[in-house]
Amino acid sequence: MHLLTGTQRSASELAGMIDAPEREIEEHLVHVVRSLARDTTRRFLLEPSRCHDCGFVFRERTRLTTPGRCPTCRSEAIAPPRFGIELRASKR
Ligand SMILES: [Zn+2]
Repeated sequence: MHLLTGTQRSASELAGMIDAPEREIEEHLVHVVRSLARDTTRRFLLEPSRCHDCGFVFRERTRLTTPGRCPTCRSEAIAPPRFGIELRASKR
């Protein structure tokens, strides 16, 4: 989790950083999302996948993996989703 706090990274970046397969990173992220759902001090951020060719943004997609193909232009040049953890301002 500390690798994501205050920044945004893709699953492949994280996989390289902790030397684990991307598949495993995605499983970890699912747990991170769940544990942050009730966390009042931190929030999970998801920057959606985007098509490099036409700019289509996969806003509806809630899965953490990269889509294989753009639904509008059929391109396979898809930027992976990026994840981060934002610290919420503490309430007083
Ligand atoms: Zn496209």
